[in-house]
Amino acid sequence: MISGKTALVGLIGQPVQHSLSPVMHNAALKAMGLDWCYLALPCESSELTKVLQSLRALKCKGLNITIPHKQTITGICSQLSPLAKKVGAVNTLIPDKIGGWIGTNTDVAGFIAPLMGRNQEWRKSKAIVLGCGGSARAVVAGLQDMKIFQITVVGRKEEKLRNFLDHFNNAILKNNSIDTPGSLKGILENEDNLLEEIKKADLIINTTPIGMHRDNKNNDAHNQIPLGVNFWNNLKTNTTLYDLVYTPRPTAWLQLGQKKGYNCIDGLEMLIQQGAASLKLWSNYNEIPVNVMRSAAEKSLLFKNYK
Ligand code: NAP
Repeated sequence: MISGKTALVGLIGQPVQHSLSPVMHNAALKAMGLDWCYLALPCESSELTKVLQSLRALKCKGLNITIPHKQTITGICSQLSPLAKKVGAVNTLIPDKIGGWIGTNTDVAGFIAPLMGRNQEWRKSKAIVLGCGGSARAVVAGLQDMKIFQITVVGRKEEKLRNFLDHFNNAILKNNSIDTPGSLKGILENEDNLLEEIKKADLIINTTPIGMHRDNKNNDAHNQIPLGVNFWNNLKTNTTLYDLVYTPRPTAWLQLGQKKGYNCIDGLEMLIQQGAASLKLWSNYNEIPVNVMRSAAEKSLLFKNYK
């Protein structure tokens, strides 16, 4: 029940109307007995600074950040956590003590969580990351955190791929870390040796929106498979395919993977776990009702019935 004492938490992005975050966060807040309400707040890039200042003045308890602000917001925060600096992107804001926002990143923890739950030794693994956009940053930071032996990022534009790799290589240099993560390299999606790289991989992560349900029901975007069907024959038997997309559930790529007997993970658990990690930071509660968040998100997806 919303009262005169109810505090605000929420999501800033554009678009946000299809987000599952309000459903799962409000279910958790209810289970935790917190008199807070989580809203999806649409915000254009030109309004971002003003909106953040206003929400801080309104004593907003915390914010999630999504497309298209995850990277630009790094320049607006009063402080960045070391992880947000490494990733170069922020998905969570925590109020500081002087009227500003501390930026951090829980996408990394969200991404890692389903892999850690698999009782598999990942350190000697070779991973392929399809795409080099915003979410690929959290994925690569997560893979480095897991000390994955070799990471290969697949891009379609040379300059973007180079900038992406430069960001991570500079982060390692700045950190002056003795504990050097495994190798990180890039490959363009039209290079001849990509197929061979993919066949050797233990873990392949799709961070592109290929296969995602779109509102325009006349297109068949949700039937598309990253790199096309022929790339996914003759992988190693125990290869894991991890698709950050979760609408539809499973995506066409994961359906194909399941048919061929590969281990498959979709992006819903990442969404739930990053949300739970954000809520933990805002509330300082030790126990976040992750199961409540998961069942609220799953129920909402079933109701939406994405095809
Ligand atoms: P983004 O920053 O726009 O990056 C998308 C990447 O995919 C870019 O490298 C882009 O290449 C590439 N790409 C797009 N269309 C492509 C195509 N047809 N063929 C080849 N490459 C293509 O987006 P994002 O924020 O990383 O999000 C990507 C997807 O992950 C979205 O579907 C999003 O919903 C999902 N996601 C899920 C979670 C979760 O919690 N499960 C979290 C974050 C994101 P160019 O740069 O060349 O355009």
